[in-house]
Amino acid sequence: MIEPDPRPLPWLNATLVGIAPASARVKSYRFRVAFDRPMRAGQHVDVRLTAPDGYQAQRSYSIASPPGGDGTIELLIEGLPEGEVSGFFDAVAAVGDTIEMRGPIGGAFVWGPEDGGPLLLIGGGSGVVPLLSMLRHRAAAAPEIPALLLYSAREAGEAIAAGELATRARDEPHFDLMLTLTRAGGRRIDAGLIAEALERLGSPRHAYLCGSNAFVSAVAERLVEAGLDPSLIHTERFGG
Ligand SMILES: Cc1cc2nc3c(=O)[nH]c(=O)nc-3n(C[C@H](O)[C@H](O)[C@H](O)COP(=O)(O)OP(=O)(O)OC[C@H]3O[C@@H](n4cnc5c(N)ncnc54)[C@H](O)[C@@H]3O)c2cc1C
Repeated sequence: MIEPDPRPLPWLNATLVGIAPASARVKSYRFRVAFDRPMRAGQHVDVRLTAPDGYQAQRSYSIASPPGGDGTIELLIEGLPEGEVSGFFDAVAAVGDTIEMRGPIGGAFVWGPEDGGPLLLIGGGSGVVPLLSMLRHRAAAAPEIPALLLYSAREAGEAIAAGELATRARDEPHFDLMLTLTRAGGRRIDAGLIAEALERLGSPRHAYLCGSNAFVSAVAERLVEAGLDPSLIHTERFGG
């Protein structure tokens, strides 16, 4: 157990140093930012935009990169039509911009090698982002810990970091990937997929679920029905 840092979180100036596509609807935004405390895989930042008239909008975004990086972090933001903050990133943000940010935030939805495994990671849509941080950290720091990612996307082109995940599944002996697509006659995460994941992984020490409210509630229910102890289940909800 790592004690939370009691100091108030300062707003920091983060510099946008890179933008790249990550799926059909999601872009990767890399920021140079000097946090005043260490981060853990699974945490998020708050981002605050201020208009010339002083109007402010603030949203949370999970950190996709692993801890101990090079002074930059990666955010993966889905550009929502009409979305106030994600729409700004999608259409306006440019390399060189300075954005206000505070973090890293979050004490319950975090994982490190000291927490052990096996790890059952279940993400819906952009809910895969904090799980990506955990997988990247695990691969670098504790590749012997078994992990399985059950990832639900609408269609293949919308799966975030699909190439990286497929490569990890091919090259990392203790990482297994199950991708399920919900569109075009695809399948939602149901009792059958949960049973298959548990059979492939074995009994998890931790389950991390992340996505919309409806996704997290439905999957948590399926996990409890499958016999998982609710105290092993960690959840992060993106709203919606
Ligand atoms: C802990 C945490 C971590 C998160 N991590 C991520 C992440 O890694 N990646 C990510 O993409 N998101 C993440 N989110 C979600 C993110 O915080 C925002 O909620 C999301 O980007 C939408 O914000 P927005 O300002 O773009 O949309 P908002 O303006 O808040 O709009 C929300 C929804 O309403 C719709 N809407 C808005 N205005 C209208 C209108 N006039 N008519 C019709 N519809 C409208 C928008 O299309 C959108 O679907 C996270 C949330 C939390 C709580």
